[in-house]
Formats: sequence, structure tokens, C-alpha cells
Amino acid sequence: MLFVIQKIGFWAIQARVRCILASILGIMEEFDTILQKNANSTELRVNTFMMHNTPLDAIGNTPLVRVPFDSPATFYAKLEYLNPSGSMKDRSALFLVTQAEQQGLLKPGYTLIDASSGNHGIALAMIGAIKGYSVIITVSEKISREKLDAIQAYGAQVVMCPSTAVIEDPHSYHSVAKKIREETPNSYMVNQYFNPLNATAHYSSLGPEIIKQTSGTITHFFSGAGTGGTLSGVGKYLKEYDPAIKVIGIDAANSYRATQGNPQPYAVEGIGIDFISPVMDYSVVDAIETVSDAEAFSMLPILAQKMGVLAGPSSGAVAYAVQKQAKKFAPNDVIVMIFGDSGRAYLTKNFYTVRGARMVCSSI
Ligand code: PMP
Repeated sequence: MLFVIQKIGFWAIQARVRCILASILGIMEEFDTILQKNANSTELRVNTFMMHNTPLDAIGNTPLVRVPFDSPATFYAKLEYLNPSGSMKDRSALFLVTQAEQQGLLKPGYTLIDASSGNHGIALAMIGAIKGYSVIITVSEKISREKLDAIQAYGAQVVMCPSTAVIEDPHSYHSVAKKIREETPNSYMVNQYFNPLNATAHYSSLGPEIIKQTSGTITHFFSGAGTGGTLSGVGKYLKEYDPAIKVIGIDAANSYRATQGNPQPYAVEGIGIDFISPVMDYSVVDAIETVSDAEAFSMLPILAQKMGVLAGPSSGAVAYAVQKQAKKFAPNDVIVMIFGDSGRAYLTKNFYTVRGARMVCSSI
């Protein structure tokens, strides 16, 4: 009898142990599934969004952020300052360098040379550091301290030139870059001001990105114009997608174009159409509006203090032009503005120190 009771107890314990083991196995299986799922989703997240071989692979896919102008329409700023070297010029500089490599014009060990108002030079300096090219950038005296330092921080050499009224002036940063190119063996001048591929870069990168991000609903595109590459490249893409999309450029009020050939000095960096260039394609541009230094700078503390967007002066010029006409847009209008670089590149210029900036905002 005792034996039978012991046997039953043993079976009960065995069954209980089996049960516990089974549930442990079950839990582990469940755990495995969860881990597997997590591993997969982590892998997906990592591969898609986070892991890149170099900063060059992280160029593009910048966010569109709503700007609450008082208007029935919807406004977005494309925060191009979130590109790796801090501006949309990462896109065009990389495109121009890659094309030159593919055409055999730029070879290992060469020196990259170009003239720049700052951001193109910073982008080239970053690319040179990654790809192993020496880089020489000519800049004009009005460049901000931060942009100058950034070019040098990437290891590039800077040649400072006087601000000249016209680009053909032998002392202009463009003319000096050409001279350095002639005197430097094994060198290649990217030539952003006269190389039409500058616009092609934005046609193939920024244009499609804007259509994708707005699901094709964009009705108006506003961009500052310097070389005209961003405006013309994106403009061409948008017009091919839907000719009804309005493409509007923003120029400095004192530029060569805006003054019909009688330019005056201006302080806004990055924009200003100061020569007749093959990069600028007016056939895809509906209008060019002009903004003064004071108007562009007036928007900077507003964008920073009311929106938390610390943007550079060319973004201020674009935002000023758009805000001025904000009420005229229709409820279904979707306006995209290029915010080309960050206010961090201009902090020493004291554009942001005005406190209590006022902006009429709608609620988002
Ligand atoms: N905004 C900023 C901040 C820039 O650096 C530039 C380029 N100099 C522009 C606008 C104008 O761009 P693009 O040369 O393509 O006309």
C-alpha cells in the first residue's frame, strides 16, 4: 500500500515537473519569438535608418517641418541643415565629385578646388576628408567665422578674397579659384557656379524627395538662389511632375540680377544671383522675389524663438518672402520652403539676439 502511495506521489511529482518544464519551454519559446521579432525589427531599423559606412551615405532624407504661418494653407520648411556637413550643398557637392570621378577628371591623389560662399566649401572639405583628396576653397570676406572655421576643421585650405561686385573681377573668389586650379598640378575645379550638373544633383535628389514627402501634394516651392542649382534642379523635377506647381526663387535685393547689372553690397550669405550662369534655368521658374538684408535677418529670431528653428539668413529670406504673402494662399495649398543651413553657422553675427520676437501664428 505504501509502495502504491509512493508511486502515485512520484508520478504526480513527475507530472508536475513535466508541467513546469513544459511551461518553462513554452515561456522560452514565446521569449524566443519576442527576441526574434525584436532582433528583426532592430535589424530593420538599424539597416534602414542608422548604420552608414560614411557620412556621405547619410546625405538627404531631411525632414519637412510645419511652419505655423497665419494662413489657410499649409507650410513646410525642409530642414536641409540636417545634412551631415550642415547644408543642402552636401547633395550637389557629392554629385559633382562623383560625376568627375566617373568621367576620369578626378583621380586619387588630386586636389579639389572651388569657390564658395561657405556651404559648398564645407561640403567639399568633408568629402575630401572622407575620400582622401586635398581641398582648397576660395571664399569672400563676408563669410561667417563659423563657416570659415568649419572648412578648415575638415582639413581643407582656405584662400580669402575680397567681396567683388561681379564674379568676372580678377580678384573675385571664382577668378582666384580658376587661377589656383591652373597653377596646381593634378587638380580639379568643381566649378559649382558654371557646372550645369549642379542643378542635375538637385533634380535627382531633392526634387523626388519633396514629391515623396508631400505625397505629391506640393503646390508651391520656394528656394533661395545663389548658383541657382537648387531652384533650377528641383524646379525642373517639380514641373515635370506637375506643371501647375509654382516654383519661386528668392534673390538678394542688391544682387547683379535684382539691380539689372548695378549690384550693391549685401550681407546675406548663400543667396544672390550675381552673374549669368548656365546653372540657372529660368524656364522652370515662375517668379523671382527679392528680399533685403534687413528683411531676411528680421525673420531669424522669430524662427528661432517662436518655432525652435535656428536657421541661417537664406532661410530667413525665404521665410520672409513666404510670410509676407501667407494670407493669399488657398486652403489646399501646400508650400515647401528650403531652409538651406543652420543659424549655428552665424551665431557670431548676432542675428538672433533680439528677444521677444513676434510672429502671427496659426494653431497647428
Ligand atoms: N542657401 C544657402 C545657405 C546656401 O549656402 C546656398 C548656396 N550658396 C543657397 C541658399 C543657394 O543655393 P544654390 O547655390 O543652389 O542656388
